[in-house]
Amino acid sequence: MDTHVAVTPGATAFSAPLVRSSLQARVVWGDRVVTVGGGAPVRIQSMTNTDTVDAVGTAIQVKELANAGSEMVRITVNTPEAAQAVPYIREQLDRMGIDVPLVGDFHYNGHRLLTDHPDCAQALSKYRINPGNVGKGDKHDRQFSQMIEIAMRWDKAIRIGVNWGSLDQELLARLMDENSQRAVPWDAKQVMYEALLNSAIGSAQLAESLGMAASQIILSCKMSAVQDLIAVYRELAKRSNYPLHLGLTEAGMGTKGTVASTAALAVLLQEGIGDTIRVSLTPAPNEARTQEVVVASEILQSLGLRSFVPSVTACPGCGRTTSTTFQELTQQIDNFLREKMPVWRTTYPGVESLKVAVMGCIVNGPGESKHADIGISLPGTGEAPAAPVFIDGEKRMTLRGNAIASEFQAVVENYIQNRFGSQGQARTSNTALHD
Ligand code: SF4
Repeated sequence: MDTHVAVTPGATAFSAPLVRSSLQARVVWGDRVVTVGGGAPVRIQSMTNTDTVDAVGTAIQVKELANAGSEMVRITVNTPEAAQAVPYIREQLDRMGIDVPLVGDFHYNGHRLLTDHPDCAQALSKYRINPGNVGKGDKHDRQFSQMIEIAMRWDKAIRIGVNWGSLDQELLARLMDENSQRAVPWDAKQVMYEALLNSAIGSAQLAESLGMAASQIILSCKMSAVQDLIAVYRELAKRSNYPLHLGLTEAGMGTKGTVASTAALAVLLQEGIGDTIRVSLTPAPNEARTQEVVVASEILQSLGLRSFVPSVTACPGCGRTTSTTFQELTQQIDNFLREKMPVWRTTYPGVESLKVAVMGCIVNGPGESKHADIGISLPGTGEAPAAPVFIDGEKRMTLRGNAIASEFQAVVENYIQNRFGSQGQARTSNTALHD
């Protein structure tokens, strides 16, 4: 009997994320080299919201962002005082053993600050230059060139960061004039897209003509609407092979900012577009700045592009889970894994790929738990008060009583030790807990 499954005519293979070929930038501090593009993992970056003049406060926030997983951290450099603080921030970080590269964010006076404060120019690993904010008229190219020359002198990478909120108005006006001469003029949005792309790619070409290595030029064209961002980055990726910094600017707060950033970045990352990402969330009062790093990591991990922390699969719960036990256990396990990661990252290499399932009842619980490395199916309403635990796809034990949460946590830790510890022992679980 022919057991082959029939293939639907016209069906194609299931698709993986695409890969865009790009140059590779190197953002360096000491021995730390963060590669961007050219096949490197998609990098996470973030930005402080402290006053840069407060060197200690800024260094502390940079440390928090770096510990949360930010691989580069940008700081505002807007005044001579801020420029003077930069080497002290770097010094504080080096003293704390935080070697994350710092990126200086310059607008309007970057050419002067970098010229007048060589210690600042040296302490930074990358300069963000906004071509819309480097000066008008004949000053534009002169001041832009001055920054490029300093970047080359200190061997720093740059990001040409165009933002539609500060788009080069002279360039836009010129393109609007040209558009009005067309037999069938484009709509205003198309002209705006074109101005963003022209500003980014034209500035990169100018930097190259001054001697800057193309590979050390990272581009971004940030916009605040999801569809605009997708349209512009698709074109940017098509027209150049510079590494791309990707982010939805002014994404907003909380759920709105998180969802909008995820929607935009996921579409582009799936198409291979984006070599480093930043999630621009407005923190709620007293909310940790590190939330933007958490969201960026979750986006990359959810897309399967990188792994940072063991993932916890949990069902949403429904009328079959009338107690809060299941929610509490899910949260406890998630917190436990995140809290342990800073240490586990070095003691248990590879642990970030672990998959844990915490499920609410028998309907999908055993099935989902079997797909995870380790999973527990809690009893739903009316089910026997027993929680089967599955390890590597097989039921290994059943937990009962009031200590299910702590016992399951011990089982997870034991599994991690056995699988990812230096002993590399066979995967076993705590036999004392077996049926
Ligand atoms: S696994 Fe059970 S508790 Fe969870 S959503 Fe499905 S039916 Fe509801």
